[in-house]
Amino acid sequence: MPVISASQIKPEYDVIVVGSGAAGGQSAYTLTMEGVKVLMLEAGRSYEPVTETPMFKVGSSAPLRGASTTDKPFGFYDSTVDGGWTVPGEPYVRASAGRENQFKWWRPRMMGGRTNHWGRLSFRNGPYDFKPRSRDGLGFDWPIDYDDLAPYYDRVEQLIGVYGNNDGMENTPDSPPGVLLPPPAPRVGERLVQQRAQKIGVPIVAAHRAVLTQRQDAENIPAKLHPNNPKAQRILRESMQSRAACFWATPCGRGCSIKATYQSTTVHLPPALATGNLDIVPNAMAREVTTDSNGKATGVIFIDKTTGDEVQARGRAVVLAAGAAETVRIMLNSRSVVFPDGIANSTGLVGKYLMDTVGAKLGGQIPLLENLPPLNEDGAGGAHVYAPWWLYQQQLAGKLNFARGYHIEFNTARGQPKLDVGAGLEPLNGGGTWGRKFKDDVRRYHGSFISFSGRGEMIPNEGTFCELDPVVKDKWGIPVLRFHWQWSDHELNQVVHMQQTFKQLIEACGGKVWGEQPAAHGRDAIHPGGDIIHEVGGAIMGSTRRKSVVDAWSRTWDVPNLYLTDGAPFVSNADKNPTLSLMALAWRASDHLIGELSRGNI
Ligand SMILES: Cc1cc2nc3c(=O)[nH]c(=O)nc-3n(C[C@H](O)[C@H](O)[C@H](O)COP(=O)(O)OP(=O)(O)OC[C@H]3O[C@@H](n4cnc5c(N)ncnc54)[C@H](O)[C@@H]3O)c2cc1C
Ligand code: SF4
Repeated sequence: MPVISASQIKPEYDVIVVGSGAAGGQSAYTLTMEGVKVLMLEAGRSYEPVTETPMFKVGSSAPLRGASTTDKPFGFYDSTVDGGWTVPGEPYVRASAGRENQFKWWRPRMMGGRTNHWGRLSFRNGPYDFKPRSRDGLGFDWPIDYDDLAPYYDRVEQLIGVYGNNDGMENTPDSPPGVLLPPPAPRVGERLVQQRAQKIGVPIVAAHRAVLTQRQDAENIPAKLHPNNPKAQRILRESMQSRAACFWATPCGRGCSIKATYQSTTVHLPPALATGNLDIVPNAMAREVTTDSNGKATGVIFIDKTTGDEVQARGRAVVLAAGAAETVRIMLNSRSVVFPDGIANSTGLVGKYLMDTVGAKLGGQIPLLENLPPLNEDGAGGAHVYAPWWLYQQQLAGKLNFARGYHIEFNTARGQPKLDVGAGLEPLNGGGTWGRKFKDDVRRYHGSFISFSGRGEMIPNEGTFCELDPVVKDKWGIPVLRFHWQWSDHELNQVVHMQQTFKQLIEACGGKVWGEQPAAHGRDAIHPGGDIIHEVGGAIMGSTRRKSVVDAWSRTWDVPNLYLTDGAPFVSNADKNPTLSLMALAWRASDHLIGELSRGNI
């Protein structure tokens, strides 16, 4: 991928975008396709999935057969080539070590950010999700509603390619006809759960994932996404034609060298670069947004990690898209006479109301799935089906002891065996076997296990926030974040309900809970904050500048040429995984910024 070094940047750009993941990629794509000159700063190294993805390397030739190591917690194949749960020389601080107050922070340091590795689950927020306070009196309402974002969901889904069905489920919006790609057929275990879940009233429908199950319609989509813009249409057509459909064989977490999954590095950045309007500087660690004496943003100071030098980049506008908490960190570190507490922080709200997704899991062993004939069930590298939240009405009627919903993801794949296949079978085969019997046992039991994961909505609270640590700095001398985390009873009760539902599902399939049993108290079941890697919030959107950091266009109230396009402006974090929504918001914000630039307001 063509990139430039810090010494090659131009004296000034229209817009500086910080971060190259889902948010930065979408922002740069939208802006450059409309002729805006953009400089992108990315803290990680350059990464080219087409040549660097080891997706065809078999396990027997991978180091340690692909097993996890401290450097590679998801194993050798993980496409996160730099970053993860720890980033050398870049610490962060937890205000409390207690289990219930713990926060974990997954940080990529590579071109494309987490989009190289993410699970690709792509759900729209529904109408209720934009007005949660109006429904139950908790948290905050968004200043926009579903209809404001729907056209942008349509665009993003067509651009990146999302499979799924229109199932007409409550608060789980359908897409317009022809927007979604056909979903893959459920796997055998998924079919079993789908059938048996009916007994306990849990609906199982096609998952929505950003994976091409067929080639994109490169003849028609570009004109829909870029009307009256022949150059953008041509570039997008060529980009879409370079993407192949999934061939159902390799886990998507390895990245996808045939470009069947959405990654910023294969879908957003190549067309943006092809416009000639984008310069990308990798290894560029943004430290602060600079301002003039009126408090208007003038650019970004970054550390060139290859030399350690401090560099000033100048732009008419700045878009922060470094991942919600990193964006907050840059804002808090951008201190000036006008903004002594950090840029656009006149309310003191920057860093407040962080949220993650609520998570809990439970596994089961299902005798009905034993001894299946050998077959390739890898499929589209992730879930083909899932259960959207189905108890909205009971919740509204006050029949549940938690206020917000969750959806269920589950894994039944009888996929390519991993290094540990056959481990832990002792409780099933009378204490352990070896030789031929062991091989027979592995064939019998492989694929008979199901793991269920709940993904629930966390309500923002006063005790969950981040701030600058007064002492600790990273190796570039930049102050780091200190995280405070707190769950409420809503989340703790929600995970108890999740595990009880999973137990019912396992038993409805004729199986038994395998391993850890459902917890009596939520604190023993809930994943730590940040563990689901869906952290959002910290610079919330609102309709008044007194109670929010950005307006309905993701533009900071205090600094009209500073936009935030990652998860930082999220007002609530519905159970739906956040990335599709943040890309739709990024497209909408970028459209607004283009308008402001062309009207000469910026
Ligand atoms: C294992 C895993 C599974 C996931 N599964 C799903 C899923 O199925 N569905 C879903 O919706 N979401 C999922 N997510 C979350 C999803 O990846 C994120 O929501 C999404 O990538 C956020 O986009 P972003 O652009 O805000 O951040 P990122 O994609 O993290 O990109 C931020 C970029 O900014 C760069 N950066 C950070 N700080 C600086 C700085 N100071 N200067 C310059 N650059 C900087 C980073 O290096 C990075 O490249 C998953 C994440 C992981 C890790
Ligand atoms: S399963 Fe399909 S989409 Fe996923 S990495 Fe393999 S080919 Fe690509």
